[in-house]
Amino acid sequence: MAVRKRCRSSGCKTSPRCEHAWWLDVMHHGKRYRMPVDDFAFPRGATAPITSKQEAEKVWEPKFIAEIASSKDPRKAPQRESTAGKPTTVADLLAMYRQRYVDVERLKSRHTALSQLRILTAELGQLPTAALERPEAIEDFKARCSGRAIATTNRYLARLRHICNWSIGRELLTATPFHRRGLRIVTKNERRRDRRISEAEEQQLLDACKQLNELSRANAKLTWEVVDNIRARARAGVPQRELAVMFNIP
Ligand SMILES: [Zn+2]
Repeated sequence: MAVRKRCRSSGCKTSPRCEHAWWLDVMHHGKRYRMPVDDFAFPRGATAPITSKQEAEKVWEPKFIAEIASSKDPRKAPQRESTAGKPTTVADLLAMYRQRYVDVERLKSRHTALSQLRILTAELGQLPTAALERPEAIEDFKARCSGRAIATTNRYLARLRHICNWSIGRELLTATPFHRRGLRIVTKNERRRDRRISEAEEQQLLDACKQLNELSRANAKLTWEVVDNIRARARAGVPQRELAVMFNIP
């Protein structure tokens, strides 16, 4: 057994259903490697403590074994490439995207974009940037979105897809996982988006309706004769303000 708890020997009565940490414990070529799963997982992109044995076995143990088998020391955090100016983590990349795209392009959806970036940073920020070149991390994120509306999840994915393409264009990433045989955004089960005008817009509409009902406009009997008259004066250089007074236009 390569994922285990060590607390029973120190008297923990409820092990393994306790708060104590899971450990990775692997023999390789006669040598024993062991360490808390969290200590291995955090430098490699985990964003929360690993409390599930299943996750430890399915996600982290294979990586642990792979590192040992390729004669790396799993107790050392993986080296991050620090090429000048290139983001090393997804959080860095998202910050760059915000600075060079969202802040520059005057997006109508700026507010939404920023809130998406906050969520994506919290969910994927600690991963190395290259994690966005493959589907796994994004699929994991998608799975964690199961409580959200499909349409909402799809908008996060669409944002990620744009981030990937934008990054490839700037040589910050070399591949995107969004392609025909990779990640796809399935809109089939999306519920239609509810769109509502903002309160300010609503008030403007109501104000406009009120003006239409005002007597002055209702009584303004514009005939073609009057219109031609106004046009002629306008051509002759009478300022608009004076025309309005002359013809009782509010
Ligand atoms: Zn325990």
